[in-house]
Amino acid sequence: MPLDSYNRDINYLRISLTDACNLRCVYCMPEHMTFRPRDELVSDAELRRLITIFAKTGFRKIRFTGGEPTLRPSLVDLVRHATQTAGIESVGLTTNGVLLAGLAAPLRAAGLRSVNLSLDTLDADKFRRITRWGNLPEVLAGLDAAAAAGLRIKLNAVVSRGTNDRYDVVALARFTIAQAWQVRFIEQMPFGNNAGFQKKSMVDEAELLSVLTEAFGPLELVDGGKLDGEARLFRIPGAAGCIGFISPVTKPFCADCNRLRLTADGILRLCLLRDNEADLRPLLRGGASDDELAGFIHEAVFQKPWGHGLAQDVMSVSRGMSEIGG
Ligand code: SAM
Ligand code: SF4
Repeated sequence: MPLDSYNRDINYLRISLTDACNLRCVYCMPEHMTFRPRDELVSDAELRRLITIFAKTGFRKIRFTGGEPTLRPSLVDLVRHATQTAGIESVGLTTNGVLLAGLAAPLRAAGLRSVNLSLDTLDADKFRRITRWGNLPEVLAGLDAAAAAGLRIKLNAVVSRGTNDRYDVVALARFTIAQAWQVRFIEQMPFGNNAGFQKKSMVDEAELLSVLTEAFGPLELVDGGKLDGEARLFRIPGAAGCIGFISPVTKPFCADCNRLRLTADGILRLCLLRDNEADLRPLLRGGASDDELAGFIHEAVFQKPWGHGLAQDVMSVSRGMSEIGG
């Protein structure tokens, strides 16, 4: 079991399969982006090897993310490998849903049980403005396909002031009345030089809770407020699903952090919001044994910083969200 220097059990690896994306969400990346060439990315064979080594090191949970992970042609095979790896108990996928309609059934057949789909609004024009390039019907088709394939569904919405902070939040939360889904609202995080804009447009949990209470009446706290992953859950009385708040800015959950991130180019990112990193590539490509790689992973876990420094205006400057994987 990999414990860090603060005695946290670090057992969750989020793997970015590519830094590229088929959308350009305004809070995530600029419209004109240069992505890494394919040969700089960790190869499929390297990823399969790393997943096995992480599992032997004590990691129990894997999530594939990006950029947009559905752009990686080998996604279904990698999911199959992860779900069949001894020791891995949970495999997840975070996607914008654009390509999910054609992938939900094969992913389910490969052993995927749940999907996190990012959806900030049900208004097609607004969806286009937020994502710059997105067509809402494609994403809704992906959502339908995921439900039809029997995948558990969590919707993730990043909330921005003046964009989707009232009507849209209520419309998304309404899904939970009939569907046993989680609809989770994420506080926008600052990255690098977008920080000024994002800070101003961040809408916090307390404000959203009052918007939702106005619409649905008082919400019930689920599990006494114990976090489910990173989300604090509430329920509209009698609803099938839950509403979650992921509030890294106003209610940091660093004390419960159990994760490392592997970027698409093979860097272990030790905290989402700090630039501390450990480069796996020299060992991975330099003929290191599995034991040497496992030792490096243990050392990286031990170097994991306590938590982010947003309160002190410390933020990630070396990489944006799409390059880390969320
Ligand atoms: N492309 C996939 C997607 O959008 O689901 C996976 C990668 S994306 C970087 C992962 C998550 O990060 C998404 O839910 C997205 O909304 C969220 N995200 C991106 N930029 C963010 C920011 N500045 N603050 C908070 N969440 C952000
Ligand atoms: Fe792409 Fe996801 Fe970033 Fe949107 S949030 S630009 S879908 S990586």
